[in-house]
Amino acid sequence: MDKARFSKKPKKVPARSLDDIPEALRDNRKVTQRRRSKSVTIVGGFIGLGVIGAFALLWFLTNSPPGKVSQSSVTTPTASPTTSDRPSNENVLLGHFAYPEASPKDLQPISRDRQIKLRKAAAQQFRAMSASARASGVTIVPISGFRTVKDQQHLFFDVKAQRGQTATKRAEVSAPPGYSEHHTGYAVDIGDGTPATNLSTKFETTRAYKWLSANAARYSFELSFAKNNRQGVSYEPWHWRYVGNRDSLETFYKAQNLKSRPNP
Ligand SMILES: [Zn+2]
Repeated sequence: MDKARFSKKPKKVPARSLDDIPEALRDNRKVTQRRRSKSVTIVGGFIGLGVIGAFALLWFLTNSPPGKVSQSSVTTPTASPTTSDRPSNENVLLGHFAYPEASPKDLQPISRDRQIKLRKAAAQQFRAMSASARASGVTIVPISGFRTVKDQQHLFFDVKAQRGQTATKRAEVSAPPGYSEHHTGYAVDIGDGTPATNLSTKFETTRAYKWLSANAARYSFELSFAKNNRQGVSYEPWHWRYVGNRDSLETFYKAQNLKSRPNP
């Protein structure tokens, strides 16, 4: 994602006054007749005003608050929809949003070994969704659900170190601790029981993914990181989040400070 958009510093506007007439005009004044000097001053004044106006416009276009006017609006008066609703940078770290950690007492197991958990409402809907898929001959299995900030600490920093990745590169596929949707207890990574497609974009070719695309919304699950999502996170066809009650909806949409339009 374009981090430059979030870290732009305002440029200083050159202090210009009406006396600041371009060099060429000043030289000109020395050699021309007095009669002409008055009109030159007026013309110079207009040019000076024009220069100030141009600088003011340029400053406005490049220094408006992030999220309101993007770089694309420098060339197009109406910002494109993919950039005009960029979130404010307060809760964003490397393209991920800050999320609170769910309380253990609100979690329920969704896997056979009872190790993978989601928050109660999401867990119930996941089980119903899974049963419905099974009835259609499709297998969907949870790979990962709720994660603590501590779990994410390992996933982000230890794996990053093992792979020798930069923070930016790691953040394309993993959220920093404190910034994962998995902390909320509403997000779940889903597989089809075939390890080869687990946590891989190949998952989009499976029957499980196709079934989810057609039916997950009936159970209030949606894909968090669609292709070319505004967050700039890599496409994750396996990562789904529950948005079926007020708390989950607020958790995700308020955190992102986005308008009601969903991901493209
Ligand atoms: Zn995930």
